[in-house]
Amino acid sequence: MQIPRNAAAVTQLDSSRGFGCPQRYIQGPGEFENIFLYAVEYGQTPLFLIDGGIFPMISARIQAVRDKAGCRYETFPYSGESCMEGVAEIADQVRDLGCDLLIGVGGGKVLDTAKLVSDELDLPRMIVPTAASSDAPAADWAAIYTKEGVHLMGRRTRRSTELVLVDSEIIVHAPSRLFSAGIGDALATWYEARACERSRSHNCVARGYLPTRTALALSRECYDILMREGIQALQDVKAHVVSPQVEDVIEANTLLSGLGFINGGLAAAHGLHSGFSEAHGGERSLHGEKVAFALLCQLVLEGAAEDELWKLMDFLYAADLPLTLEQLDIQPTEENLRIIADKTCNRNSLIHHEPLAVDEDRIRQIVLEANALGHHYLADRQKEGVS
Ligand SMILES: [Zn+2]
Repeated sequence: MQIPRNAAAVTQLDSSRGFGCPQRYIQGPGEFENIFLYAVEYGQTPLFLIDGGIFPMISARIQAVRDKAGCRYETFPYSGESCMEGVAEIADQVRDLGCDLLIGVGGGKVLDTAKLVSDELDLPRMIVPTAASSDAPAADWAAIYTKEGVHLMGRRTRRSTELVLVDSEIIVHAPSRLFSAGIGDALATWYEARACERSRSHNCVARGYLPTRTALALSRECYDILMREGIQALQDVKAHVVSPQVEDVIEANTLLSGLGFINGGLAAAHGLHSGFSEAHGGERSLHGEKVAFALLCQLVLEGAAEDELWKLMDFLYAADLPLTLEQLDIQPTEENLRIIADKTCNRNSLIHHEPLAVDEDRIRQIVLEANALGHHYLADRQKEGVS
C-alpha cells in the first residue's frame, strides 16, 4: 500500500521529538583571553557588539588580549533594545566594515541583538555573556522588542550559535543580583519542562517538537544543581570567588537553563512573567526575578503540596529572590491584575502548556494566592529575626 507523502509527514511531526543546541559551549576562569583563538575558527574580521554600559571595560580587555591570532577586529557599543531597527543599523555597520563574524558581549539584549544580526546576514556568531543572569546565551532564540522597549515576540533563530564562551572570572565580578536572577530563571526550567511533558506541549525547537528524554534529564540536573549548590554559589559570587559551586551554577544558569527551555518547553512561569512585564512597575525587575515569583504562582496553580511550596519559598528567600508582587515593584491593584491576567491568558500561549485549563479568573486567583503565601512567609521570617 502506498502512503500519501503529506499524510505520513504530518503524522510524523505530531509525535516526533526534537532537540537543538549551540555548536559549542566553553566555560572557565580567564577564557576571555582565548577569544581570538576561538574566533579564527569562524572568521578573520570579527565585530564585537558590546553592551554600552560595560563598553570601556570590555574594549580595554579586548585590547589587552595578548594573542589576537592575526585578526583585524572592530568594536561597536550598543545600548538599544533587541529591536529590528537596531538589527538593521548594526547589519549596515557589519557590511560597511567588511566583518565576517559577530561576537556579542554583555547581557540578554545585546546577545539577542547579535543573534538576530548574524541571522540577518547569515554570518557565524559567538555569544559571550558577562553575567549568569538568564537563559538567553545558550538558546538559539531571541526576544524582540520595539525600540521603545515593549516586548513583541520571541523568535527562533535560523542559525545555531557557533560558540558560547563564558569567562567565570568575569561572571563573579558582575553584581550578585544578576546571578540571583539567573538562578530564578533556571529554577523554573525543570518545573516548566515537567508541565510540558504532562500536557504533551511542543518545545521551542524549530517548528516545535515533543521533548527528548535528554531534555528532561538536563532540566532535572539544572534543578538538582541549584538546590544543592545554588545558595553557596551565591555567597561565593558575593565574595568574587570562582569556587566549584560557582562553576556548577554558572553552567546551570547558562547552559542547562537555555537548553532546558528550548528543548523542554516553557509553561506558566514564563507565561506569567510576560504578564508581570506589562503590569505597571514590572519593567523595574529583572527577567529572572519575575520568573522566580511566577514559579511560585505556577506551583499554586498546579496544586503543589504545602511542603513543596515551603521548600521553594525557603530557596527563593535564601537566593535573594522575590516572593511577592510588591518585591517586583508591582502593586496588586485591580488594573495590574487585569493586565497580568489578560496578557498571560490571551496574548501569550505559554500558560496553556500547563496540563489543566486556565482562564483569566483563575490567573488572578493564583497570583493573589501566591502573593498572600509570600507575605505570610516573609512575616514569619521577620518574626524569627526579631525573636
Ligand atoms: Zn527565562
